[in-house]
Amino acid sequence: MATNRTFTMIKPDATQENHIGGILSMIEEGGFRIVSLKKVLLTPERAGKFYEVHKERPFYQDLVKYMSSGPIVAAILEKDNAVADFRTLIGATNPAQAAEGTIRKKYAKSIEANAVHGSDSDENAQIEGDFFFSADEKF
Ligand code: ATP
Ligand code: MG
Repeated sequence: MATNRTFTMIKPDATQENHIGGILSMIEEGGFRIVSLKKVLLTPERAGKFYEVHKERPFYQDLVKYMSSGPIVAAILEKDNAVADFRTLIGATNPAQAAEGTIRKKYAKSIEANAVHGSDSDENAQIEGDFFFSADEKF
């Protein structure tokens, strides 16, 4: 399994407030190469499927509503040690606990509307990238 790729989404709060460019800049300045990129509006069904691991958590219904409330930007990123280094770049889930210099410290509004997603393992990076990007897309 590759260890040099991760998957991210710029979440609806950040796309709606015109932070796509700022966040992509922080990602590139952090040493990540953007391998694949697209902006899409998730249906509640697709958002629910993406976050299915959290379906027993009390915040799941709100999370699904929030993640389908506006467009997201999905991207596959490449760098050595991508998964761990990207979690460091985005900062803690709760922006109140996010370190200075992190994407969530700069852009997140709350523990739910926290600007970006980052995969938590190489296995999930692969699964999540495949959820949005297929190898045989032609334009
Ligand atoms: P992500 O998976 O989006 O990168 P994370 O790994 O930091 O975030 P998770 O525990 O996987 O955090 O939670 C997934 C998402 O669910 C969070 O990013 C946030 O949007 C939302 N969430 C997590 N905990 C809470 C909570 N206590 N209240 C409301 N929303 C929450
Ligand atoms: Mg997570």
